[in-house]
Amino acid sequence: MVSSRELAVFSSAAPSAGLLVIDLDAVRFNYRLLRGLLQGAACGGVVKADAYGLGAAKVAPVLAAEGCRHFFVAHLDEALALLPHLPDDATTYVLNGLTRNGTDEAACLVVAGKAVAPVLNSVDQLAVWRGKAAQSGRVLPAAVQVDTGMSRLGLPPEDIKAVAADADAFIGLDVHFVMSHLACADEPRNPASTGQLANFRTARAALGQHPALARSRSCFANSSGIFLGADYHFDLVRPGAALYGINPLPGRDNPLRGVASLFGRIIQTRWIPAGTHVGYGYTAMAARPTRVATLSVGYADGWLRSLSGKGAVWLGDDRLPILGRVSMDSICVDATDIAEERLAPDTPVELIGIHQDVDDVADAASTIGYEVLTSLGSRYRREYLGG
Ligand SMILES: *Cc1c(COP(=O)(O)O)cnc(C)c1O
Repeated sequence: MVSSRELAVFSSAAPSAGLLVIDLDAVRFNYRLLRGLLQGAACGGVVKADAYGLGAAKVAPVLAAEGCRHFFVAHLDEALALLPHLPDDATTYVLNGLTRNGTDEAACLVVAGKAVAPVLNSVDQLAVWRGKAAQSGRVLPAAVQVDTGMSRLGLPPEDIKAVAADADAFIGLDVHFVMSHLACADEPRNPASTGQLANFRTARAALGQHPALARSRSCFANSSGIFLGADYHFDLVRPGAALYGINPLPGRDNPLRGVASLFGRIIQTRWIPAGTHVGYGYTAMAARPTRVATLSVGYADGWLRSLSGKGAVWLGDDRLPILGRVSMDSICVDATDIAEERLAPDTPVELIGIHQDVDDVADAASTIGYEVLTSLGSRYRREYLGG
């Protein structure tokens, strides 16, 4: 985390919406912390959505330098963009699976020269990928996902049985692992997780009887799932959020380091008399003579509109509450109690940092840290620390 006092070392953010500082040493710390919780399991890295908005091209090499060799994205295009930033022996898994006829995926395997593997999420996808293997005369890599309760992606129980009994199901495929995903891992006392764990073990046992899968590994836990204990770790874990400093233990102390610090800047200030309105919809009205500071960040920059009239920003150690609605390119804050000389145009104002972390902002916006980070948008100047 970077404080506003340390900002002088950065280039001016004045021509942009603000400054997003991404601490790659914190990513490394977080990866090491997670890996330290494992006994023998490997630690992958989820870098979908451009590493949760923080820059996959920067984050992935840091993880790779720590020994990470299993990367996860949502879409094939994300995998292709990532490849130049990965070592040759890394594999990128595409969580959302195959497109309808698998042609793009098969073509990319050949072009890229580095391993991209689809997560096969249905019997149909399995058949398409088998067909591609037969067509190309090559053994194609894949992961297979089973649905253990979330009803989102993966083979349902009846298909798992059918596939396990089908001797031809995996011809031409090299299945690296069988995986599933937890729906309620961030609620440690929720019995849904133990139920999903039991379902995963059942699915694993069934698929393990298939000669082609006897040696395939298992992959189950996301960030919060790692903290559910060793029963959930299997051979490979897939954290995303925790790498980026989002608390995997809501309601408890966050053991991870914040990665993103975000600063907007003051554009303009004004005094308004009591009774004057602020912003779209006139939803806020000054109860006293008020100094309004207008800042350079709006909902187009991921400062979510649900923060209208809620939450605050920080100038040094002073909290400035948000006044009225969040606009597309700006917000207004109450700077009445701040000395004039601290409010010069372009002065940086902390939005995410040492006074409020990404989970605090998410709470104020009634959402989760994942949404705050992935919404941040492209109008900030970015500075990367460490790495
Ligand atoms: C996004 C995602 C992850 C990472 O989850 P975190 O909660 O961010 O650790 C893991 N597995 C799957 C299937 C996902 O979609």
